[in-house]
Amino acid sequence: AAIETYTSPTASQPTHNAPPPSQGHRANATFVFLCRNNDINGAVASVQSMEDRFNRNYHYPWVFLNDEPFTEEFKQRIGVLTDAPVSFGLIPREHWVQPDWIDEERARQGRLKMMNQRIIYGGSVPYRNMCRFNSGFFYKHELLQQYRYYWRVEPSVQFFCGLNYDPFLYMEEHEKVYSFTISLEEHEPTVRTLWDSVKEFMFENPHLIEPGNSMDFLSNDGGNKYNMCHYWSNFEIADMDFWRGPAYTKFFDFLEAKGGFYYERWGDAPIHSIAASLLANKEKIHFFRDIGYRHESFQHCPSGNQWKEGRCACDPNDSFDYSDHSCLKRFEGLFQ
Ligand code: GDP
Ligand code: MN
Repeated sequence: AAIETYTSPTASQPTHNAPPPSQGHRANATFVFLCRNNDINGAVASVQSMEDRFNRNYHYPWVFLNDEPFTEEFKQRIGVLTDAPVSFGLIPREHWVQPDWIDEERARQGRLKMMNQRIIYGGSVPYRNMCRFNSGFFYKHELLQQYRYYWRVEPSVQFFCGLNYDPFLYMEEHEKVYSFTISLEEHEPTVRTLWDSVKEFMFENPHLIEPGNSMDFLSNDGGNKYNMCHYWSNFEIADMDFWRGPAYTKFFDFLEAKGGFYYERWGDAPIHSIAASLLANKEKIHFFRDIGYRHESFQHCPSGNQWKEGRCACDPNDSFDYSDHSCLKRFEGLFQ
């Protein structure tokens, strides 16, 4: 794959009133930002928010990925926002486009059906490419090989609270593999046959299913039926070694062969959530209660002391946590 790298012209100059970057132990970690050139305004807003609220004190690198080359204007507008290293990568074609072995006629019928059901992105092929890439390919990108932990960021998101500790180090020190701020229910028609495939995988690979799993997050009847709960993957801090490991590799390859990324519209959120819930111990999944975050149309805003100490710029009464379609109660139930 062609790799483009870019270093901000101001990268080596200390910013005037920024505190020095943390001197202690740092995690082997990066931000990952998949987007298009025309996402630039939203991307600038998200980077600004992350830099202001967290990264100006830490200088973790940013990796931008795109299925087309980033423009010079895009690189410049991102580069001026941070003292941290920023790199821009092109996604190899075979990690992005619909594979040749997919039956396009069957895929087209699936898209039409979902459009008729008014499912969001139901008719979109690029959206399906994106979901498949985020499920099984981003962590294979050349620019990410040197890193273990990543924090996924999307255009037009907001980070509401100051952070006085390093969440990457938290993941490392507590041996977490996956984390979230918002969890909710998936649109059923997008994953109609996903659970049948997951059950088939579990039957064929019982040795890969973690005994201390969190099946009860995914199912209300011990695994017969999927309850549509998933962690909202536009926010993720996670361990790429988990995705790169043998269990997830086998899981992803199994699901890929079913073709459901194209015949249906399997999202990376249910794929990641089901994998983390079944292939990892429940103790390895973390809810970042103290990270205030918004991606349209939902937000998580901390409350009480966490809200106060984080100087959170959000309404603590406006938080998705315990609203009707949130799955946070199920996650918390795992530990009661
Ligand atoms: P939503 O959050 O599910 O509504 O989906 P988004 O439109 O936000 O897409 C998820 C992420 O993938 C965002 O970071 C987008 O910028 C990115 N994305 C979506 N489609 C494409 C695409 O066709 N090309 C590229 N390069 N990025 C995409
Ligand atoms: Mn989004």
